Amino acid sequence: MATAAQTANAQTADSALKGSVSLQGLTKSFGEFTAVRELDLDVAPGEFLSMLGPSGSGKTTVLRVIAGFEEATSGTVRLSGVDVTRTPPHARDVNTVFQDYALFPHLTIAENVGYGLRVRGSSKAERTAQVEESLRRVRLDHVADRLPQQLSGGQRQRIALARALILRPQVLLLDEPLGALDKQLREQMQIELKQIQREVGITFIFVTHDQEEALTLSDRVAVFNNGRIEQVGTAREVYENPETEFVARFLGLSNLIPAALAQELSGERCTMSIRPERVRLQPASDPLRDGDVGLVGTVREVVYTGPATRYLITADAGVELIAERPNAHHRTDELPLERGDHVRAVWNPSHAARLP
Ligand code: ATP
Repeated sequence: MATAAQTANAQTADSALKGSVSLQGLTKSFGEFTAVRELDLDVAPGEFLSMLGPSGSGKTTVLRVIAGFEEATSGTVRLSGVDVTRTPPHARDVNTVFQDYALFPHLTIAENVGYGLRVRGSSKAERTAQVEESLRRVRLDHVADRLPQQLSGGQRQRIALARALILRPQVLLLDEPLGALDKQLREQMQIELKQIQREVGITFIFVTHDQEEALTLSDRVAVFNNGRIEQVGTAREVYENPETEFVARFLGLSNLIPAALAQELSGERCTMSIRPERVRLQPASDPLRDGDVGLVGTVREVVYTGPATRYLITADAGVELIAERPNAHHRTDELPLERGDHVRAVWNPSHAARLP
């Protein structure tokens, strides 16, 4: 029999794990096809984790296995420290927000938001109070009596969020919830989503194939490729220090310097990834600063992107490079560049990531 101290210790451990998600050796096959293989992932309580990757890389499958809509072929799923691998979805303390909102068209907004509480058997008074609070949280208390079709896409998305949060799950799973919104609304909703997550303090696992969205929102990003996680880290870690070529290419633009050329330039024999904003352009005849490396080449294309200008350079050594400069008015010291100009693309090897 457990002593009082052991029980207390177990309870402390349990409360520290409340809201955590742990996947170990998770594999999910559909017949012959393996969508997720041997995946390990630990999400801390209250963390905002994004699962980012190309279409078909297994993100939604992992989300559905966590929710219990799909059964793991092998491996374990733990929620708040408890093994739920074989637990049915309704008995798991998670809720899911889908891209298509899935609101009931014939129910008012207030009825939609209160639906889960009604199923749980909460009293009318309790429901009314919680629906009000929930609608206030997503800043939509003024639309309580409308029907879903009388709201905009962004408003419907916030209602879907309110409906999921009202049940106060330990973990909220979000499957491309902003996918159907236009860019401007999407960016506004990203800020709101982050604020709401901070306020409610529950764990968010967010699926997206939009890298900017993942970098903006998350405490950590898990980059998926082909049913596996290539790298997990903070936005800064995965962007600045990609561990694989796939991550370097999938997250933003990257210049990949082949190992043989990297060795000629800096003496280190490994493929290097350098971000375009870390590459400076100077007249080909100017000397290199101490510690910098550079390649001479020709400007092939100049692309104006609004906040920055992107230069595509064909280096004499045979590689294509991209350099990006912010369009800041105070930067009058920089060389104006046109197609056909001869330049030196320069960077510091300390800003490059080493790839295996
Ligand atoms: P997207 O961003 O397009 O939603 P994803 O990364 O979420 O992609 P998944 O939906 O997890 O990818 O799918 C991973 C792979 O598993 C895909 O090749 C998909 O076709 C396959 N798959 C998913 N569900 C099933 C199923 N029920 N039966 C058979 N194959 C499936």
